[in-house]
Amino acid sequence: MRLASTRDPLRVSTFRDALLAGLAPDGGLYQPLDDYDLRSLLEQPHRPGGQDGTDRSDGFAPLAADAAEALLADEFDNIRELTRSALTFPVPLAELEPGITVLEVFHGPSCAFKDVGASFLAATMDATLADSGKRAVVLVATSGDTGSAVGRAFVGRSQIDVVILYPSGRVSPLQEKQLTTIGANVVALEIDGAFDDCQRLVKAAFVDRGLRAAVAITSANSINIGRLIPQAFYYLHGYRQAVAAGAQRIVFSVPSGNFGNLTAGVLARRWGMRAERFVAATNINDVVPEYLAGLEFTPRRSVRTIANAMDVGNPSNFERLQAIFPTREKMREMIVGSVSTDEQMRETMRDVYERRERFIDPHTAAGVRAAREYRRDVDGSAHVVVVSTADPAKFPETVSTACGASPPVPRQLAGIESLPKRSIEMAAETEELKRFLLDRFAK
Ligand SMILES: *Cc1c(COP(=O)(O)O)cnc(C)c1O
Repeated sequence: MRLASTRDPLRVSTFRDALLAGLAPDGGLYQPLDDYDLRSLLEQPHRPGGQDGTDRSDGFAPLAADAAEALLADEFDNIRELTRSALTFPVPLAELEPGITVLEVFHGPSCAFKDVGASFLAATMDATLADSGKRAVVLVATSGDTGSAVGRAFVGRSQIDVVILYPSGRVSPLQEKQLTTIGANVVALEIDGAFDDCQRLVKAAFVDRGLRAAVAITSANSINIGRLIPQAFYYLHGYRQAVAAGAQRIVFSVPSGNFGNLTAGVLARRWGMRAERFVAATNINDVVPEYLAGLEFTPRRSVRTIANAMDVGNPSNFERLQAIFPTREKMREMIVGSVSTDEQMRETMRDVYERRERFIDPHTAAGVRAAREYRRDVDGSAHVVVVSTADPAKFPETVSTACGASPPVPRQLAGIESLPKRSIEMAAETEELKRFLLDRFAK
């Protein structure tokens, strides 16, 4: 696979190099250069699996392995096994109501779709480091959800340690338990500060040459191409399931914050998936829907909402979308914006529970509301697949307040409250983080 920076199409890189670098040297994001034709994969029959995450043979892993082989066989001779070992959970498509289905991308280890990208990244990064006999430390700042997906994906990997920084007292009790009970090669640093402080510390570590000479640090954030590519695979899988169920003219509704999820869908389409369009479903952090509506793209501070994983005021993957769609008109042909307020997400959670007997999380609620709006205002005969990004049990307070009942707890989260929390408390001081990393990891 050849990749190039969004800021310099002539700077070509391999997947392996892009994976370890994260960001391109010119500050741009890596983007696949070539087009692939994966249509033949979509024609293979789909074997339906269980709807509740208990049946592991729903066909996602084999399809992902085929797709990964088509893209990356040049760089990994065992890419099929790597992919299968990373993506061990099903991604079923469930009925919601006429014209709308829900693609459940949340049956992975941390119960959110970020598990797909993080697991594939962990597998390919570990293999790349092992081939060169190197080790690395993944540093990740989290406001709640990314940290546990990354921690779970990397636990037990031989070449990599993970250090998660999270803001003390500012993540939910369940999120904190998910972050601090992984153990083994995954350490949680409880920072006396806000999420912005955690991010500042991580950034300071990355620009510290002395530290980087002593400890090989790397990132696993959502701009890494190793997280983006595998996300295209669940679109192929969702599309194939929808077609098998008789759907035509398929549109994806995508709960969006940093826009990695939606960008992956656009890649899948470039590689042969015949989706008609994408709906970008945001909360009131709506700089992309604003742009699509004709205003300037104006990044701004994020505001807090009940769909907090989408509280992003300056979505980093917008740069990738702009590289793919050079004009606003081109982007508008493919992407439609839809904005939901907290109240609208609560109403949708309640309505879906009362009328469809289903719990959905607040992010998915923005996606469902956008899907209904699209069918009402744009195209009533399209079939909309909502990409469901998290298990409702990850947001128990918000969901039960909206629905008046509590969502069932999946096996990944069962009993987690009673596990002992293991974190290292730290002041929000660059020097302290540096000393910790040197003491623990310097060769
Ligand atoms: C991260 C996240 C999103 C947003 O995904 P992007 O790729 O950043 O657009 C939506 N929902 C949930 C539950 C998430 O964790």
